[in-house]
Amino acid sequence: MLHLKQDIFSQVSERREIVMRRRKRTRGFTLVELIIVIAILAILAAILIPGLIGYISTAQESTCLANRATAKRLLLSETALHGLDETEAAQFLSQNSLPPGKICPAGGTVSLKKDGDTWTVSCSIHQNGNTAKSTVEIVNDHVQDLMDKAFADYFKDRPSSKELDSTGTNFGTAIRRDLAELLNIPQDQADQYDFRVYRQTVNGKNEYYVYVFDSLGNHSSGDRIAATRYVFRSGADGSPVLDDSATATGTGQVATKLIDNKDEVKYLNTSEAFWQQDP
Ligand SMILES: [Zn+2]
Repeated sequence: MLHLKQDIFSQVSERREIVMRRRKRTRGFTLVELIIVIAILAILAAILIPGLIGYISTAQESTCLANRATAKRLLLSETALHGLDETEAAQFLSQNSLPPGKICPAGGTVSLKKDGDTWTVSCSIHQNGNTAKSTVEIVNDHVQDLMDKAFADYFKDRPSSKELDSTGTNFGTAIRRDLAELLNIPQDQADQYDFRVYRQTVNGKNEYYVYVFDSLGNHSSGDRIAATRYVFRSGADGSPVLDDSATATGTGQVATKLIDNKDEVKYLNTSEAFWQQDP
């Protein structure tokens, strides 16, 4: 009888505990917990929003620069072929699908100035050197190390390969990680630009054409975008040496292709017909 009583007592207290636990689980959040959640969200927003704004403005600046380079080329060729003066320039660009009002995606006023046979296309917001370009300059300081370390390794392991695109899976996270490490920048910011490396053999020695440009994630197939080209030629000991005289800025055309015969990716077409060096 005593046993039974104890059993019943322990069953009742167990049930009470379950009910209490259940109540605890469904009682909602305390004020302190809510404050903590709101504080975390505020901190996340403070971290992410400036990054996002910077990302958009970099893309706009880069598009503005590429559009101005295209406009300048159009003006130069029309001037050489048929003659063109300042008063006709805006209308001429509009006829070629590039009205001055659409050159700057950030809404800058674009002016077209003719001086002799040459043209200056400037934007009221963006300078000639843009954010993408300064990124390119940082890359330039380190690309020598990168060539020695990552790209040279990549091509050494793939003797028949000619091209390496950072948009393709063949680029590999190792190269991107090396790049970010060399540039001393966080991984999320390393994604703001892309690379294309083309290798060719001249007199039995390797040459590398390295193109650095704004991330293709910001651009559509068919767009012309600004890029900087570096050429590395084989040095005395066989390792790649930057040929400063061959460094050039220009535009390439965004296109798609299959990489490793399976993944369709966007890449920057920099083959002769699609690469236009700035005049
Ligand atoms: Zn602009």
